[in-house]
Amino acid sequence: VVEVLRLGHRGDRDKRISTHVALTARALGADKIIFTVEDEHVENSVKKVVESWGGNFKFVVEKHWKKYIKEFKKRGVVIHLTMYGANINEMMPEIKKIGRDKDILIIIGAEKVPKEVYELADYNISVGNQPHSEVAALAIFLDRLFEGKTLYRDFEDAKIKIVPSNKGKVVIRENQK
Ligand code: SAM
Repeated sequence: VVEVLRLGHRGDRDKRISTHVALTARALGADKIIFTVEDEHVENSVKKVVESWGGNFKFVVEKHWKKYIKEFKKRGVVIHLTMYGANINEMMPEIKKIGRDKDILIIIGAEKVPKEVYELADYNISVGNQPHSEVAALAIFLDRLFEGKTLYRDFEDAKIKIVPSNKGKVVIRENQK
């Protein structure tokens, strides 16, 4: 099981990027996203995607995020993505090995991340040491973890599916099956 904890969300300013974080988590292979701040708009957008495109991706809000991390550590490994961390290139083999037996919780921030997160995490991992985006960091991390395999994923109960095509749009809708 792979979960993503999206730490912080600055209301209107973050609506779009927080939605992208959740959709990227789902599309690239995570099973669940945990937000620390409620946002109905984001939650509804994500739930609509799951409804149409299928799968069991879970969306939850957990204001007591420290408690959540501590509980998670009993069953899994906690990875904080930060530009200050150890480089993903060196660390991924070890993380993959641990991920075979343990659940993984990936933490990404919105604004400045509290120091405690660095201490609570089992690994602080950087996707390069330049500042960029939580969406990019998450996408690269998941893609490396799953070695590109989740890019072939589609979901049994989907109402809508795409047939990959080099020319134009090929879409299958439930009522056409
Ligand atoms: N300046 C903030 C800080 O000092 O924590 C980070 C803000 S950044 C826009 C939001 C999130 O993107 C970070 O919390 C981190 O999870 C992720 N991020 C940005 N650049 C990263 C990098 N090079 N490697 C890993 N994660 C990164």
